[in-house]
Amino acid sequence: MLKPDALNAGNIGGITKMIEEAGFKIVAMKKTRLTPELAGKFYAIHKERPFYGELCAYMSSGPIMPMILEKSNAVEDFRKLIGATDPKKAAPGTIRALFAKSIDANAIHGSDSDANAEIEGNFFFSQFERF
Ligand code: GDP
Repeated sequence: MLKPDALNAGNIGGITKMIEEAGFKIVAMKKTRLTPELAGKFYAIHKERPFYGELCAYMSSGPIMPMILEKSNAVEDFRKLIGATDPKKAAPGTIRALFAKSIDANAIHGSDSDANAEIEGNFFFSQFERF
């Protein structure tokens, strides 16, 4: 999912180019927006973390672009491609090193397991939106 800072900065093209060049197929993609309540649901796993409120406020502050991506070993390869959560610690050449602005405005989200990828894909897309 591209975060509001990525869309506001005009980085949709730059980031999706890196995703495709890394061998991922974009199966579904759309521009949409989360309400604070929906952001809270999406990030419910982080409910107890101190930054949960800030995270939900940020993720509902502007449009986002969720995607379903396909590749073998997708979760691990995608997390390598996006880099560490904090852009100051993200490896050179990763999406966050190139495009993220801060630890909350960090350009992109990636699912952390196959099970969560399934849940998160279903959160945004119906079966008719996947090609
Ligand atoms: P990710 O899997 O790399 O996205 O990182 P996490 O699952 O640990 O955290 C989810 C998201 O919460 C991150 O992408 C950040 O946008 C945000 N986040 C993580 N740590 C912090 C923090 O210390 N402060 C704030 N404001 N946001 C944070």
